[in-house]
Order: sequence, then C-alpha cells, then structure tokens
Amino acid sequence: MQSQDLLNIAREYGAPVYVYDAGKIQSQFQRLTSAFSSVGQLKLNYAVKALSNLSVLRLLNSMGSGLDTVSIQEVQLGLMAGFRPEDIIYTPNGVSLEEIEEAASLGVQINIDNLSILEQFGGKHPDIPVCIRINPHVMAGGNTKISVGHIDSKFGISIHQIPHLLRIVELTQMKVNGIHMHTGSDILDIDVFLYASEILFETAKQFKDLEFIDFGSGFKVPYKEGDIQTNVEELGEKLGGRFNAFCKEYGRDLVLAFEPGKFLVSEAGFFLTRVNVVKQTTSTVFAGVDSGFNHLIRPMLYGSSHQIVNLSNPQGKQRYYSVVGYICETDTFASNRRISEISEGDILCFRNAGAYCFTMASNYNSRYRPAEVLWMDGQAHLIRRRESFEDLIRNQVEVNLPAPGAKSAQQVK
Ligand SMILES: *Cc1c(COP(=O)(O)O)cnc(C)c1O
Repeated sequence: MQSQDLLNIAREYGAPVYVYDAGKIQSQFQRLTSAFSSVGQLKLNYAVKALSNLSVLRLLNSMGSGLDTVSIQEVQLGLMAGFRPEDIIYTPNGVSLEEIEEAASLGVQINIDNLSILEQFGGKHPDIPVCIRINPHVMAGGNTKISVGHIDSKFGISIHQIPHLLRIVELTQMKVNGIHMHTGSDILDIDVFLYASEILFETAKQFKDLEFIDFGSGFKVPYKEGDIQTNVEELGEKLGGRFNAFCKEYGRDLVLAFEPGKFLVSEAGFFLTRVNVVKQTTSTVFAGVDSGFNHLIRPMLYGSSHQIVNLSNPQGKQRYYSVVGYICETDTFASNRRISEISEGDILCFRNAGAYCFTMASNYNSRYRPAEVLWMDGQAHLIRRRESFEDLIRNQVEVNLPAPGAKSAQQVK
C-alpha cells in the first residue's frame, strides 16, 4: 500500500487510526508456509492476542490459519469469526480449572502448562486429549550463547518434572496428543532454537499418542533499518528436515505447529496520528501528536522502536525530533529521531503497528480508542469505529448523591 492510500484513509476516517494491510498478512502467511513446504502437515495457529479484530480473524480463517488463544474470550472471538473448534488451541497461563473446562466444552484443543491443573483436569476428564506445554529452559535470543536461564519462568512444565508428569498421565489414564513450547523470546539464533527443539523431540518420545508438536513462536521481524530478522527459510530447511526424521523415528506422521503473532501482523500495521503542536524547548524540538500510550504503549512498556514517517512532507529536510503524545504523563514515542520536517497538522505514520498495539490500547485520560481500517484489494474497510463518549460511560453506574450545597437526608434529621 502507498503513502497516498494512508493519507486518504487519515482524511476519510480521521486520526488517530490504525490501518492493516491484508496483502502483507497474506504474504507473511505464505512465506512461512513455503519455508516449511518439506513438512507434510504444517499448521499455523495465529496468536490472537497480537491483533484480535474479528475481520482480521476472518481474513486469517480464509487463508487456512488456525488460532492460538490465551483466554476464553479469545476462544469465543475465534468461534464467532468462523473458526472450527478443532482449529483453535487454547494455551492459557494461570487461569482457573473452570475456565479450562469451559474451553474444553467448546471443543477446542486444550494446552496445559502446570502439573496441578494437569492432575485435576486428567482426574476429571481422562477422555479429553490435552497438549502439554514444556519449558525446555532454553532462551532463544538475546545473545548467541545458549542460556539455560528461564528456570524461574512462570510458563510451562519444566523438563526436570517429566517423571512426575508421566506418573500423572499414567495414574489418570489421560491422553496426551501434543507437546508444546513457546520460549516467548525472539528467535535470533536458529541453532539455539534447534537446540530447544531437540529437547522437545526427546520429550516427545515419552508420549505414545502424539498427533502434533507445537514449536510456539518468537519469530523476529525488523522494526528499523539494520534490524536482524528471523531467517524463516533457513529455519524451515533445518527444522523441517529434522522434524521429518523425527516422525520416521516416532513411527507416525505428526503435525508441525507454530503460533506466530508478530510475524503475521506486525509489519502489516500502520498507526496514523496528527501533529497537534511543534514545540521548541531549549534543547529539543518536540512534535506532539494526538495520541499517547493509551493507544500505543510498546515504546514505553518495552522500549520498542517504531519507525516514524511524516506522510505529509516525505521530501522535506531531515531534522531531529522527539515525538511525544498528549497524555498527562511522560509518553515519549521516540527521542532524537530524524524525520522529514514536521509542521502542525502533518500526519505521522508509526510502522510495525499491527502486533500488540491496538490490543493493548486503553481509555487512559478518558480518551477514545482509535478506529481500525483494513486495506484489502485496493480498498479501505472500516473494521472498528472510533469510540465515542457513550463508550466511556457504558458500564458506569451512578450513585445518587445530593447536589452541591444541598443538605443530605442525614443532615436534615
Ligand atoms: C504471545 C504468544 C505467541 C505469539 O508470540 P509472537 O512473538 O507474537 O509471535 C505464541 N504462543 C503463545 C503461547 C503466546 O502466548
């Protein structure tokens, strides 16, 4: 999609607004699928929490994707978007047994990540097959050394607890149909990822009824020029080959599953904001936009660096700016960033705004959450209206209080 398309959307729907390019989501899905073409049965389960708009979910459904969900509400959104229950995996952390049972009753694949719930669930529902989330204690990413850190991670069942896990499975007679890992960190070093995969293969041998192995996610996408990104083609070649060999050894063709969130939607997203004020202080030139961490919190929460482009003046002279929001709080999107000269009223575009942006938005400062637009086949489709004042007060219940100056009932007595 072109800059002019984005400008037209800002004009038509107003700013701030999130825009998603369907074509980019499709091409990322295709890229990952092609990278693993050597694997007989590949399943990509899109991680809903990255971007959960129903229209985006429907788009992924139309491409043959499954879903990875982390709450019962995400399961419900997936079903509403037309996914079959068997194409949804539910991978919660720290939720109640009741919520897991509710998801099971909806027919989705359950993924359990602690021994306590495993024992309770297996005791009550030995006939419902479950997947087990393993913590291989390997951190893929950060530096190139294999880190055996993550011992204290709250996610997954430690590989050191496998004997205990096997006892529970045996005693409850439950069926384990999948094993899973998600290290949660960026896959920078493919060899580290392969190392963790070997641990998963080793673990897999202990279970006789497996149908799939789920390698989670952590695919890294570039945020700025020079950023490293996961070489999914190389990963596909190496892990695909290793997976096929494992299936031979195991004696059955298994499904290889992934749960990409960021990889599928990050680069497809653009966040458009309008510049309210250009403010020169003694040391800095601030560009203040009509947004803040109420709409895009990743730079403040994770220190993530989103590229910012001035769509209104693409050929302008490059100058240094600090781009800040309108929230009464420090909400710096970028410091000392070279951006083509900014005037009040210009439209600034934040790149990589597809994943973990809108889904983390809030109403802080009593501001409305932005509209969302899906760009598909050369056309803009509004997929979420901007909020209105009604939305801010929808669930509030007002207490009857005396008007200022009026005596309360108690005072009158
Ligand atoms: C968040 C999450 C993902 C997606 O991670 P990305 O880095 O966005 O690809 C996958 N699996 C699980 C279990 C998750 O919690």
